[in-house]
Amino acid sequence: MSLAFTYNAWPGRVLFGAGTLGQLGEEVRRLGLGHVLILATPSHEAEAVALAASLGEVAAGVHAKAVMHVPASTARAAVEEARRLEADGTVALGGGSTVGLAKAVALELGLPILAVPTTYAGSEMTPIWGLTEGGLKKTGRDPRVLPRTVIYDPSLILGLPPATTVASGMNAMAHCVEALYAVDGNPIISLMAEEGLRRLARSLPSAMREPANLDARADTLCGAWLAGTCLGAVSMALHHKLCHSLGGSFNLPHAETHAVILPHVAAYNAPAAPEAMACIAYALGADEGKSAPAALFDLAASCGAMIRLADLGLREPDLDPATEIALAAPYPNPRPLDRSAIRQLLEDAYWGRRPA
Ligand code: NAD
Repeated sequence: MSLAFTYNAWPGRVLFGAGTLGQLGEEVRRLGLGHVLILATPSHEAEAVALAASLGEVAAGVHAKAVMHVPASTARAAVEEARRLEADGTVALGGGSTVGLAKAVALELGLPILAVPTTYAGSEMTPIWGLTEGGLKKTGRDPRVLPRTVIYDPSLILGLPPATTVASGMNAMAHCVEALYAVDGNPIISLMAEEGLRRLARSLPSAMREPANLDARADTLCGAWLAGTCLGAVSMALHHKLCHSLGGSFNLPHAETHAVILPHVAAYNAPAAPEAMACIAYALGADEGKSAPAALFDLAASCGAMIRLADLGLREPDLDPATEIALAAPYPNPRPLDRSAIRQLLEDAYWGRRPA
Protein backbone atom coordinates (compact mmCIF):
# COMPACT_ATOMS: atom_id res chain seq x y z
CA MET A 1 0.00 0.00 0.00
CA SER A 2 1.33 3.49 -0.76
CA LEU A 3 2.05 5.89 2.11
CA ALA A 4 -1.09 7.20 3.86
CA PHE A 5 -1.52 8.52 7.41
CA THR A 6 -3.20 10.98 9.75
CA TYR A 7 -0.85 13.14 11.79
CA ASN A 8 -2.06 14.82 14.99
CA ALA A 9 0.16 17.70 16.07
CA TRP A 10 -1.13 18.35 19.57
CA PRO A 11 -1.41 21.97 20.58
CA GLY A 12 0.80 22.99 23.45
CA ARG A 13 3.74 25.09 24.52
CA VAL A 14 7.06 23.75 25.74
CA LEU A 15 9.77 25.59 27.66
CA PHE A 16 12.96 23.57 27.85
CA GLY A 17 16.13 24.30 29.79
CA ALA A 18 17.77 24.55 33.18
CA GLY A 19 16.09 27.28 35.22
CA THR A 20 12.89 27.43 33.13
CA LEU A 21 10.83 26.65 36.25
CA GLY A 22 11.47 30.30 37.14
CA GLN A 23 9.13 31.25 34.27
CA LEU A 24 6.16 29.35 35.69
CA GLY A 25 4.44 32.45 37.13
CA GLU A 26 4.65 34.20 33.77
CA GLU A 27 3.25 31.10 32.06
CA VAL A 28 0.34 30.91 34.53
CA ARG A 29 -0.57 34.51 33.71
CA ARG A 30 -0.02 33.93 29.99
CA LEU A 31 -2.86 31.36 30.15
CA GLY A 32 -5.05 33.95 31.86
CA LEU A 33 -5.07 32.01 35.14
CA GLY A 34 -4.98 33.62 38.56
CA HIS A 35 -5.38 30.85 41.13
CA VAL A 36 -3.64 27.54 40.43
CA LEU A 37 -3.59 24.45 42.62
CA ILE A 38 -0.18 22.78 42.80
CA LEU A 39 -0.26 18.99 42.72
CA ALA A 40 2.56 16.65 43.77
CA THR A 41 3.23 13.28 45.40
CA PRO A 42 3.69 13.21 49.19
CA SER A 43 7.47 12.84 48.74
CA HIS A 44 7.54 16.08 46.69
CA GLU A 45 5.47 18.14 49.13
CA ALA A 46 8.38 20.37 50.24
CA GLU A 47 9.24 21.24 46.60
CA ALA A 48 5.56 21.95 45.88
CA VAL A 49 5.27 24.24 48.92
CA ALA A 50 8.43 26.11 47.85
CA LEU A 51 7.01 26.47 44.34
CA ALA A 52 3.75 27.85 45.75
CA ALA A 53 5.73 30.37 47.81
CA SER A 54 7.67 31.47 44.72
CA LEU A 55 4.42 31.95 42.77
CA GLY A 56 2.90 34.19 45.43
CA GLU A 57 -0.76 35.12 45.03
CA VAL A 58 -1.41 33.03 41.87
CA ALA A 59 -0.90 29.87 43.95
CA ALA A 60 -4.22 28.71 45.41
CA GLY A 61 -2.64 25.95 47.50
CA VAL A 62 -0.74 22.66 47.50
CA HIS A 63 -2.28 19.21 47.30
CA ALA A 64 0.55 16.66 47.64
CA LYS A 65 -1.52 13.48 47.52
CA ALA A 66 -0.84 11.98 44.08
CA VAL A 67 -0.30 8.22 43.99
CA MET A 68 0.45 5.73 41.20
CA HIS A 69 -2.37 4.89 38.73
CA VAL A 70 -4.77 7.60 40.01
CA PRO A 71 -7.17 5.72 42.32
CA ALA A 72 -10.70 7.16 41.90
CA SER A 73 -10.80 8.20 45.58
CA THR A 74 -7.55 10.18 45.12
CA ALA A 75 -9.02 11.86 42.05
CA ARG A 76 -12.23 12.76 43.94
CA ALA A 77 -10.22 14.30 46.80
CA ALA A 78 -8.18 16.44 44.38
CA VAL A 79 -11.34 17.59 42.56
CA GLU A 80 -12.87 18.53 45.94
CA GLU A 81 -9.76 20.49 46.92
CA ALA A 82 -9.69 22.33 43.58
CA ARG A 83 -13.38 23.24 44.07
CA ARG A 84 -12.88 24.29 47.69
CA LEU A 85 -9.98 26.58 46.78
CA GLU A 86 -11.77 27.84 43.66
CA ALA A 87 -8.72 27.00 41.56
CA ASP A 88 -8.84 27.95 37.89
CA GLY A 89 -5.96 25.70 36.82
CA THR A 90 -3.47 23.14 38.11
CA VAL A 91 0.30 22.83 38.13
CA ALA A 92 1.52 19.22 38.12
CA LEU A 93 4.99 19.06 39.64
CA GLY A 94 6.15 15.44 39.37
CA GLY A 95 6.09 12.27 37.29
CA GLY A 96 3.28 10.39 35.56
CA SER A 97 1.33 9.92 38.80
CA THR A 98 1.08 13.66 39.45
CA VAL A 99 0.33 14.56 35.84
CA GLY A 100 -2.29 11.79 35.95
CA LEU A 101 -3.96 13.41 38.96
CA ALA A 102 -4.02 16.81 37.20
CA LYS A 103 -5.64 15.06 34.22
CA ALA A 104 -8.34 13.59 36.46
CA VAL A 105 -9.13 17.10 37.73
CA ALA A 106 -9.15 18.44 34.16
CA LEU A 107 -11.53 15.69 33.10
CA GLU A 108 -13.99 16.56 35.86
CA LEU A 109 -13.66 20.35 36.09
CA GLY A 110 -12.01 21.33 32.79
CA LEU A 111 -9.12 23.09 34.59
CA PRO A 112 -6.12 23.73 32.31
CA ILE A 113 -2.85 22.02 33.29
CA LEU A 114 0.69 23.38 33.41
CA ALA A 115 3.00 20.37 33.73
CA VAL A 116 6.48 20.34 35.22
CA PRO A 117 7.66 16.74 34.65
CA THR A 118 10.28 15.27 36.97
CA THR A 119 10.54 11.78 35.42
CA TYR A 120 10.75 10.49 31.84
CA ALA A 121 7.22 8.98 31.77
CA GLY A 122 5.91 11.35 29.07
CA SER A 123 2.30 11.73 30.24
CA GLU A 124 2.60 15.52 29.91
CA MET A 125 2.66 15.12 26.11
CA THR A 126 -0.47 12.99 25.79
CA PRO A 127 -4.24 13.49 25.85
CA ILE A 128 -4.50 10.09 27.61
CA TRP A 129 -6.03 9.89 31.08
CA GLY A 130 -6.24 6.90 33.44
CA LEU A 131 -8.30 6.17 36.56
CA THR A 132 -8.26 3.08 38.77
CA GLU A 133 -11.34 1.78 40.59
CA GLY A 134 -11.97 -1.65 42.08
CA GLY A 135 -8.58 -2.90 40.84
CA LEU A 136 -9.37 -1.99 37.22
CA LYS A 137 -7.61 0.82 35.37
CA LYS A 138 -9.74 2.66 32.83
CA THR A 139 -8.02 4.84 30.25
CA GLY A 140 -9.30 7.20 27.61
CA ARG A 141 -8.38 10.14 25.42
CA ASP A 142 -9.69 13.64 25.86
CA PRO A 143 -8.10 16.83 24.51
CA ARG A 144 -9.03 18.65 27.76
CA VAL A 145 -6.43 16.67 29.71
CA LEU A 146 -3.51 17.59 27.45
CA PRO A 147 -1.35 20.08 29.38
CA ARG A 148 -1.39 23.61 27.89
CA THR A 149 2.17 24.38 28.90
CA VAL A 150 5.01 22.03 29.75
CA ILE A 151 8.15 23.18 31.51
CA TYR A 152 11.05 20.75 31.11
CA ASP A 153 13.67 21.92 33.57
CA PRO A 154 16.48 19.33 33.72
CA SER A 155 17.80 20.76 36.98
CA LEU A 156 14.69 19.28 38.65
CA ILE A 157 15.70 15.70 37.80
CA LEU A 158 19.26 15.78 39.11
CA GLY A 159 18.00 14.03 42.24
CA LEU A 160 15.96 11.34 40.47
CA PRO A 161 17.29 8.15 42.13
CA PRO A 162 19.35 5.86 39.84
CA ALA A 163 16.85 2.97 39.97
CA THR A 164 14.00 5.30 38.92
CA THR A 165 16.21 6.98 36.31
CA VAL A 166 16.94 3.78 34.40
CA ALA A 167 13.42 2.35 34.76
CA SER A 168 11.78 5.60 33.70
CA GLY A 169 14.27 6.04 30.85
CA MET A 170 13.46 2.55 29.53
CA ASN A 171 9.75 3.39 29.90
CA ALA A 172 10.33 6.34 27.56
CA MET A 173 12.30 4.16 25.13
CA ALA A 174 9.32 1.79 25.01
CA HIS A 175 7.13 4.61 23.64
CA CYS A 176 9.68 5.13 20.84
CA VAL A 177 10.05 1.42 20.06
CA GLU A 178 6.31 0.88 19.69
CA ALA A 179 5.87 4.11 17.70
CA LEU A 180 8.28 2.73 15.10
CA TYR A 181 5.95 -0.16 14.29
CA ALA A 182 2.61 1.48 15.17
CA VAL A 183 -0.31 0.54 12.96
CA ASP A 184 -1.01 4.27 12.50
CA GLY A 185 2.63 5.41 12.46
CA ASN A 186 3.90 8.15 10.18
CA PRO A 187 7.28 9.53 9.06
CA ILE A 188 7.29 12.51 11.46
CA ILE A 189 6.65 10.37 14.50
CA SER A 190 9.23 7.81 13.33
CA LEU A 191 11.84 10.59 13.17
CA MET A 192 10.93 11.65 16.70
CA ALA A 193 11.04 8.05 17.90
CA GLU A 194 14.47 7.43 16.44
CA GLU A 195 15.85 10.67 17.87
CA GLY A 196 14.27 9.93 21.27
CA LEU A 197 15.94 6.51 21.33
CA ARG A 198 19.29 7.98 20.29
CA ARG A 199 19.27 10.63 23.03
CA LEU A 200 18.11 8.26 25.77
CA ALA A 201 20.56 5.51 24.81
CA ARG A 202 23.55 7.82 24.62
CA SER A 203 22.84 9.76 27.81
CA LEU A 204 21.19 7.33 30.23
CA PRO A 205 24.53 5.66 31.05
CA SER A 206 26.08 9.08 31.88
CA ALA A 207 23.03 10.09 33.93
CA MET A 208 23.44 6.82 35.86
CA ARG A 209 27.18 7.32 36.45
CA GLU A 210 26.82 11.00 37.32
CA PRO A 211 23.23 11.76 38.38
CA ALA A 212 24.01 15.49 38.70
CA ASN A 213 25.42 15.78 35.16
CA LEU A 214 23.12 18.49 33.79
CA ASP A 215 24.03 17.88 30.13
CA ALA A 216 23.20 14.18 30.40
CA ARG A 217 19.96 14.95 32.26
CA ALA A 218 18.94 17.53 29.64
CA ASP A 219 19.64 15.06 26.82
CA THR A 220 17.61 12.29 28.48
CA LEU A 221 14.76 14.69 29.25
CA CYS A 222 14.72 15.85 25.64
CA GLY A 223 14.54 12.17 24.63
CA ALA A 224 11.64 11.69 27.04
CA TRP A 225 9.81 14.66 25.48
CA LEU A 226 10.18 13.11 22.02
CA ALA A 227 9.07 9.74 23.43
CA GLY A 228 6.00 11.24 25.12
CA THR A 229 5.03 12.93 21.86
CA CYS A 230 5.17 9.53 20.14
CA LEU A 231 3.02 7.98 22.87
CA GLY A 232 0.38 10.69 22.46
CA ALA A 233 0.33 10.60 18.67
CA VAL A 234 0.20 6.93 17.60
CA SER A 235 -1.16 3.63 18.90
CA MET A 236 0.91 1.51 21.19
CA ALA A 237 0.89 -2.30 20.85
CA LEU A 238 1.80 -5.51 22.70
CA HIS A 239 4.40 -3.96 24.99
CA HIS A 240 2.12 -1.31 26.46
CA LYS A 241 -0.84 -3.70 26.73
CA LEU A 242 1.29 -6.30 28.52
CA CYS A 243 2.72 -3.74 30.96
CA HIS A 244 -0.74 -2.30 31.54
CA SER A 245 -2.18 -5.70 32.45
CA LEU A 246 0.82 -6.74 34.56
CA GLY A 247 0.58 -3.46 36.47
CA GLY A 248 -3.19 -3.59 36.87
CA SER A 249 -3.67 -7.29 37.65
CA PHE A 250 -0.48 -8.09 39.57
CA ASN A 251 0.30 -4.67 40.98
CA LEU A 252 3.76 -4.50 39.42
CA PRO A 253 5.53 -1.10 39.41
CA HIS A 254 4.93 0.88 36.19
CA ALA A 255 8.35 2.01 34.90
CA GLU A 256 10.26 -1.05 36.18
CA THR A 257 7.85 -3.40 34.39
CA HIS A 258 8.40 -1.50 31.14
CA ALA A 259 12.17 -1.82 31.57
CA VAL A 260 11.99 -5.60 32.05
CA ILE A 261 9.47 -6.34 29.29
CA LEU A 262 10.79 -4.10 26.48
CA PRO A 263 13.64 -6.29 25.10
CA HIS A 264 11.36 -9.35 25.15
CA VAL A 265 8.51 -7.68 23.26
CA ALA A 266 11.06 -6.33 20.77
CA ALA A 267 12.28 -9.92 20.30
CA TYR A 268 8.69 -11.13 19.87
CA ASN A 269 7.94 -8.49 17.22
CA ALA A 270 11.35 -8.54 15.49
CA PRO A 271 10.42 -10.98 12.69
CA ALA A 272 7.36 -8.88 11.79
CA ALA A 273 8.99 -5.43 12.07
CA PRO A 274 12.46 -5.61 10.50
CA GLU A 275 12.63 -1.90 9.55
CA ALA A 276 11.77 -0.80 13.07
CA MET A 277 14.41 -3.18 14.48
CA ALA A 278 17.08 -1.81 12.12
CA CYS A 279 16.18 1.72 13.20
CA ILE A 280 16.32 0.80 16.92
CA ALA A 281 19.69 -0.95 16.56
CA TYR A 282 21.07 2.06 14.64
CA ALA A 283 19.74 4.58 17.17
CA LEU A 284 21.25 2.56 20.02
CA GLY A 285 24.61 2.41 18.23
CA ALA A 286 24.53 -1.40 18.40
CA ASP A 287 27.64 -3.20 17.15
CA GLU A 288 27.44 -4.95 13.77
CA GLY A 289 25.48 -8.17 14.19
CA LYS A 290 23.87 -7.25 17.54
CA SER A 291 20.08 -7.33 17.33
CA ALA A 292 17.81 -4.50 18.54
CA PRO A 293 16.31 -6.65 21.36
CA ALA A 294 19.79 -7.64 22.58
CA ALA A 295 20.92 -4.00 22.41
CA LEU A 296 17.90 -2.91 24.51
CA PHE A 297 18.57 -5.67 27.03
CA ASP A 298 22.29 -4.83 27.29
CA LEU A 299 21.57 -1.13 27.74
CA ALA A 300 19.11 -1.80 30.58
CA ALA A 301 21.40 -4.34 32.25
CA SER A 302 24.51 -2.16 31.93
CA CYS A 303 22.62 0.72 33.58
CA GLY A 304 21.68 -1.55 36.49
CA ALA A 305 17.97 -1.91 35.68
CA MET A 306 16.03 -4.79 37.19
CA ILE A 307 15.79 -7.38 34.43
CA ARG A 308 13.57 -10.10 35.96
CA LEU A 309 9.81 -10.00 36.54
CA ALA A 310 10.57 -12.36 39.43
CA ASP A 311 12.29 -9.43 41.19
CA LEU A 312 9.28 -7.14 40.71
CA GLY A 313 6.89 -9.31 42.68
CA LEU A 314 5.41 -11.58 39.98
CA ARG A 315 5.18 -15.25 40.98
CA GLU A 316 5.76 -18.16 38.61
CA PRO A 317 2.10 -19.37 38.86
CA ASP A 318 1.06 -15.89 37.62
CA LEU A 319 2.59 -16.54 34.18
CA ASP A 320 -0.43 -18.49 32.87
CA PRO A 321 -3.11 -16.00 33.96
CA ALA A 322 -0.88 -13.13 32.74
CA THR A 323 -0.76 -14.81 29.31
CA GLU A 324 -4.55 -15.13 29.22
CA ILE A 325 -5.02 -11.49 30.21
CA ALA A 326 -2.62 -10.40 27.45
CA LEU A 327 -4.67 -12.36 24.91
CA ALA A 328 -8.10 -11.35 26.21
CA ALA A 329 -8.56 -7.98 24.50
CA PRO A 330 -7.26 -8.09 20.94
CA TYR A 331 -5.29 -5.08 19.65
CA PRO A 332 -3.11 -4.31 16.64
CA ASN A 333 0.44 -5.66 16.84
CA PRO A 334 2.95 -6.27 14.06
CA ARG A 335 3.12 -10.00 14.88
CA PRO A 336 -0.17 -11.78 15.55
CA LEU A 337 -0.66 -12.80 19.17
CA ASP A 338 0.25 -16.41 19.77
CA ARG A 339 -0.51 -18.04 23.12
CA SER A 340 2.58 -20.20 23.46
CA ALA A 341 4.93 -17.48 22.17
CA ILE A 342 3.48 -14.91 24.60
CA ARG A 343 3.82 -17.43 27.44
CA GLN A 344 7.46 -17.91 26.41
CA LEU A 345 7.99 -14.13 26.25
CA LEU A 346 6.69 -13.77 29.81
CA GLU A 347 8.78 -16.68 31.04
CA ASP A 348 11.93 -15.18 29.47
CA ALA A 349 11.11 -11.86 31.14
CA TYR A 350 10.39 -13.66 34.42
CA TRP A 351 13.89 -15.15 34.48
CA GLY A 352 15.61 -12.16 32.82
CA ARG A 353 17.00 -14.16 29.88
CA ARG A 354 18.93 -12.11 27.32
CA PRO A 355 17.17 -12.19 23.90
CA ALA A 356 19.22 -14.01 21.27
P1 NAD B 1 5.66 8.44 39.53
O1 NAD B 1 5.11 9.71 39.05
O2 NAD B 1 4.80 7.61 40.45
O3 NAD B 1 7.06 8.71 40.23
C1 NAD B 1 7.78 7.61 40.79
C2 NAD B 1 8.38 8.02 42.15
O4 NAD B 1 9.46 8.90 41.91
C3 NAD B 1 7.38 8.76 43.05
O5 NAD B 1 7.58 8.33 44.36
C4 NAD B 1 7.81 10.21 42.90
O6 NAD B 1 7.50 10.99 44.04
C5 NAD B 1 9.31 10.08 42.69
N1 NAD B 1 9.90 11.16 41.90
C6 NAD B 1 9.38 11.73 40.80
N2 NAD B 1 10.23 12.64 40.32
C7 NAD B 1 11.29 12.66 41.15
C8 NAD B 1 12.53 13.41 41.17
N3 NAD B 1 12.84 14.27 40.19
N4 NAD B 1 13.40 13.17 42.16
C9 NAD B 1 13.14 12.24 43.11
N5 NAD B 1 11.99 11.50 43.14
C10 NAD B 1 11.09 11.71 42.16
O7 NAD B 1 6.09 7.46 38.34
P2 NAD B 1 6.16 7.63 36.75
O8 NAD B 1 6.84 6.43 36.26
O9 NAD B 1 6.66 8.97 36.37
O10 NAD B 1 4.62 7.61 36.30
C11 NAD B 1 3.89 6.41 36.37
C12 NAD B 1 2.41 6.66 36.24
O11 NAD B 1 2.15 7.50 35.12
C13 NAD B 1 1.62 5.38 35.98
O12 NAD B 1 0.40 5.45 36.69
C14 NAD B 1 1.38 5.40 34.49
O13 NAD B 1 0.26 4.65 34.11
C15 NAD B 1 1.22 6.87 34.23
N6 NAD B 1 1.55 7.29 32.86
C16 NAD B 1 0.53 7.83 32.12
C17 NAD B 1 0.80 8.26 30.84
C18 NAD B 1 -0.30 8.89 30.04
O14 NAD B 1 -0.06 9.31 28.90
N7 NAD B 1 -1.49 9.01 30.58
C19 NAD B 1 2.09 8.15 30.30
C20 NAD B 1 3.09 7.59 31.09
C21 NAD B 1 2.81 7.17 32.39
